[in-house]
Amino acid sequence: MGKLMDDWLNNMGDWNISRRRYYGLPLPFYPCDCGELTVIGSRTELAEKATAGFDQLEELRRPWIDRVTIRCDHCGREDLRRIEEVGDVWLDAGIVPFSTLGWRNEEWVPGGNATGAARGLTKADLPDHEYWEKWFPADWVSEMREQVRLWFYSQLFMSVALEGVAPFRSVLGYEKMLAEDGREMHGSWGNLISAEDAFENMGADVMRWMYCGHPPDRNLLFGYEGAHEVRRRLLTLWNSARFLIDYGNIEGFHPTYADLHGGLEAGDLTTTDRWLLARAGQAIEETANGYERLRTDEVITAFEGYIDDLSNWYIRRSRRRFYEYDDAAFRTLWVGVVTALRVISPVMPFLTEHLWSNLVAGPCDDAPQSVHLAGWPEMPGEVDDQLLAEMAAVRQVVEAGRRARMEANIKLRQPLRRIIVRGAGLVSPHASQIREELRVKEVSFDEDTAVEVTVKPNFPVAGPRLGPKIKEVAAALAAGDYEDLEDGGVTAAGETLGPEEVERSERVVLEGWVVAHDGGVSVALDPTLDDELILEGRALELIRALNDQRKQEDLALTDRIVLRLPADHSDLVDEYRDWIAGEVLATSIEVDETLDSPVLVLDAQSG
Ligand SMILES: [Zn+2]
Repeated sequence: MGKLMDDWLNNMGDWNISRRRYYGLPLPFYPCDCGELTVIGSRTELAEKATAGFDQLEELRRPWIDRVTIRCDHCGREDLRRIEEVGDVWLDAGIVPFSTLGWRNEEWVPGGNATGAARGLTKADLPDHEYWEKWFPADWVSEMREQVRLWFYSQLFMSVALEGVAPFRSVLGYEKMLAEDGREMHGSWGNLISAEDAFENMGADVMRWMYCGHPPDRNLLFGYEGAHEVRRRLLTLWNSARFLIDYGNIEGFHPTYADLHGGLEAGDLTTTDRWLLARAGQAIEETANGYERLRTDEVITAFEGYIDDLSNWYIRRSRRRFYEYDDAAFRTLWVGVVTALRVISPVMPFLTEHLWSNLVAGPCDDAPQSVHLAGWPEMPGEVDDQLLAEMAAVRQVVEAGRRARMEANIKLRQPLRRIIVRGAGLVSPHASQIREELRVKEVSFDEDTAVEVTVKPNFPVAGPRLGPKIKEVAAALAAGDYEDLEDGGVTAAGETLGPEEVERSERVVLEGWVVAHDGGVSVALDPTLDDELILEGRALELIRALNDQRKQEDLALTDRIVLRLPADHSDLVDEYRDWIAGEVLATSIEVDETLDSPVLVLDAQSG
């Protein structure tokens, strides 16, 4: 935007400020045959020079203004008439910072802006100059990119002419809003969405999310499909809050407002708890940066990353701790969800306010009644960068592992024997999490037996930085003469290359293994199944199916059941009775040869 404005100002041609219209700001130019041009500067000056028509002047616009004649000070002629043209609308728009806020107005005039066409529509006061000084220049103005040569320019021109300074401290320009089919919206094309319909069918928060989440340098394709996608993504926040509320109610969790201000004792927390608090701190920093740069799209990107971590990692990894009351887990998740509400409340004021009243204002007597009165969140604890980097790498390994499973066409629920992880030196303290998430019995790190690795420089990225030296680096990499770094980068030929500056390709050496990558991380897995693994996989499938059935039969989360299973599950019951019972809240399991499918009966004696 700055460059566009510079270009415009440097190459400015003449601006034709007049328009042949009826409505608009009448240009106060009164030419005379003697060659004199009188330009009227105020209503008072007009009153002084008027020779006729001033008494009927209801408003300073057509038709009344055209009935006023004035005197020529040069030759004395008394019937000068105004030229017929009015000003370009951007003249009006550009002068607004001066015309409405009391610039050079000595006294505050109650109802002073309720004159002329505004009479009856507003009771607005005309403020005084002191008030104007408080508001000028504006902190922020925002309009479409085209306004560089219209509104942004006319404001700048007026302000520089009158005050010698720019009228705004910052400007956000953006591209067009079009219909979802990429065309302009037109009633006759059937692709127009009225604001009322959009509010009604999308909801104000979803609309705000669409505008705020959109990179301003691209056209926004606005429509119901996009709104649906936003709704789908908001479900992650909604479901996380829902999970906390459901289990909090069951287990009698009562939040403590002070937990938002570093009230959680580090000693009581697990590594995953400390990680979520660090992620919350990181989200606060990242969203604050986005807001300060006026880039709400960056705010939303940071928010979505955080909510994904909260939902698809923290809750997922900690689920069990909520089934039996774990104080640290409840308090950590509460801080995590409430922090999410606070950082996104400027973008989504209604949904966040609703959740705030349920999660915070309701249960905590000392909490502000509104999220919008709570201020910007403090850091919930120290941001442990090492831990954040480790867990980010763990998630990368898990992503790559899932992809490898998909490639091998093996369901996530089927346990496997072994994986080998490469290029993720940070994750070794969290091997047990990786084993659980990827359902493997054994994880080993950086063993060369599984894969043959080749590393090349990523030329488009590393080339500009390294210059001609890149040839030497490439040769060293090709010869295997390099060292791997923890972050996924390498050192070769005396140069250090970041993870984004190298490209790895790997060939599986072990017969039958499958490998997948995520950034610089690779996971190789052995897809071989044995009887033990198959049996365990069947047990996991059964547990999932039974829990789905619990939901379909509308059992409450805490209801205990008596479980009867068909005979084809009898080997599972022999091997895994207690495990299955615990996972589906069964007080007893019985195999019944007359059944075709599982039968769940509410156990009336317990719960
Ligand atoms: Zn004259």
